[in-house]
Amino acid sequence: MAKVVIIGAGFAGHTAALYLGDGLGKDHEVTMISMSDRFLYVPSLVWVGIGRMDVEKTRFPLKDVYDKMHVRFVHGKATEVHPDDRYVIADKRDGSDEQVRVDYDYLIIATGPMLNFDGTEGLGPHLGNTHSICTPQHATHSRDGLMEEVARMKKGEKRKIVIGTGHPGATCQGAAFEYITNTHKELLRQGVRDKAELTWLSNEQDIGDFGVRGVQAKYKGKIISSAEFIGAIFKEYDIKWQVRSGVKKVDEKRIYWENYEGEFGEMEYDFAMLIPQFLGMPMKYIGKDGEDVSSKVVAPNGLVKVDAMYGQPYEVTSRNPNSWPEIYQNPTYDNIFAAGIAFAPPGPISVPHMTPNGTKMAAAPPRTGMVSGIIGRIVAKNIIDLVTHGRMTHSERMTEMAAACIASMGDSLWDGSAATIMIYPVVPDFRRYPNEFGRDTFVTHMEMGLGGAWMKRMIHMTFMHKLQGRVGWKVIPE
Ligand SMILES: Cc1cc2nc3c(=O)[nH]c(=O)nc-3n(C[C@H](O)[C@H](O)[C@H](O)COP(=O)(O)OP(=O)(O)OC[C@H]3O[C@@H](n4cnc5c(N)ncnc54)[C@H](O)[C@@H]3O)c2cc1C
Repeated sequence: MAKVVIIGAGFAGHTAALYLGDGLGKDHEVTMISMSDRFLYVPSLVWVGIGRMDVEKTRFPLKDVYDKMHVRFVHGKATEVHPDDRYVIADKRDGSDEQVRVDYDYLIIATGPMLNFDGTEGLGPHLGNTHSICTPQHATHSRDGLMEEVARMKKGEKRKIVIGTGHPGATCQGAAFEYITNTHKELLRQGVRDKAELTWLSNEQDIGDFGVRGVQAKYKGKIISSAEFIGAIFKEYDIKWQVRSGVKKVDEKRIYWENYEGEFGEMEYDFAMLIPQFLGMPMKYIGKDGEDVSSKVVAPNGLVKVDAMYGQPYEVTSRNPNSWPEIYQNPTYDNIFAAGIAFAPPGPISVPHMTPNGTKMAAAPPRTGMVSGIIGRIVAKNIIDLVTHGRMTHSERMTEMAAACIASMGDSLWDGSAATIMIYPVVPDFRRYPNEFGRDTFVTHMEMGLGGAWMKRMIHMTFMHKLQGRVGWKVIPE
């Protein structure tokens, strides 16, 4: 009987658990170790953060789903991985304070990001300065902060709101973009938009870069760029923007940044939501003699090393699709896989920049929910292959994956709207698409309208259905 262990029940790990439970659960032992006993539909935290969705609508209990799918559930935080002896140690979080040892033949690390607020002095809700929408607690705190601003604006005060990224190497610009457009809509709804100065502040090379080197698509017969597309939205919504700026420090009144030219400056704010740098979730990796084997499993940023070509310059990784991993398998321990944000990409997708002061400024590659789910499925199917016939048959690089990003602008299905951006492939592949963008300009698409608002709501509902393993879950794509 094979033992498969997954750490982390997010988009990647939970998707893997569903496929593994379905494929192996009855005859083998599939175990999920997760810090939270509920699945969290992270994208809808944007709506929680503006007060338009109750946080409970973004979660469901995992245990019932796993019982149905033949997956054993350990509610706990994995703290140690022993790759030579093939077991994981977890601190239980079910109120018992126990430690458990869980043995494995195959391990999937799908722990998502560690939100590195400490990477930027003064950043983060725990210090009372800036907000975040990356966890339920952060999103509700952000909502409360925003509503305080609304109350002040209703009394006639003018307020400065800054939204974007809080580190020169931050990712997840899409989530921040969705938050600024939703904030705009919410302020309009509350009748105070004229009292707010809204500013987009980010480390992107240009607006609409989103950490994927921007998007170019055919629109009404001509090529338009995401910079033009997002620029038009910002102009229409009266949102100012400053890009090419990495946040270095924050205090209770100001955000201190450095730009591409190496100049330093500051921006005043009353309310700010800035996404922190993402690192790998810290865990100990311990060898058979008790030695630290972390360097064999994880990169210095804590993300798990997989079958990517690391250490190559951007000129190589951006031109060679084979730089990107296809099976997400650790090169030292071939029974360890990583999925979702937890895997270490070979480098940025967007063009990186070094300021004259030596600050590395590069939007890190987003591994969105869709990408994370696809990787979770591939890894799970390969493990099923290995257990059942000893040979992996599934692979997909990010140079072969499509991604859809729907950034809602208000939650209303009547007067809401959304910017829908479809990109293929996520990482440009200049060999298959020898145009200047490395992408299929027919499939890659940008559209703005009410249809996207309906789609965004439908995606929330169909994913909550799929991820609960309900009837037909397998035919709903990641
Ligand atoms: C506000 C916001 C909006 C977004 N909107 C979109 C969107 O519209 N579309 C889209 O495609 N993507 C969106 N994203 C990105 C998407 O949410 C992420 O890509 C996705 O959540 C990554 O999935 P993951 O499984 O890798 O990590 P996560 O979803 O973060 O899951 C990791 C899981 O591992 C658990 N874990 C961590 N460490 C341990 C440990 N030591 N032991 C046990 N468990 C552990 C965590 O508790 C968590 O449950 C958004 C992100 C944010 C923050």
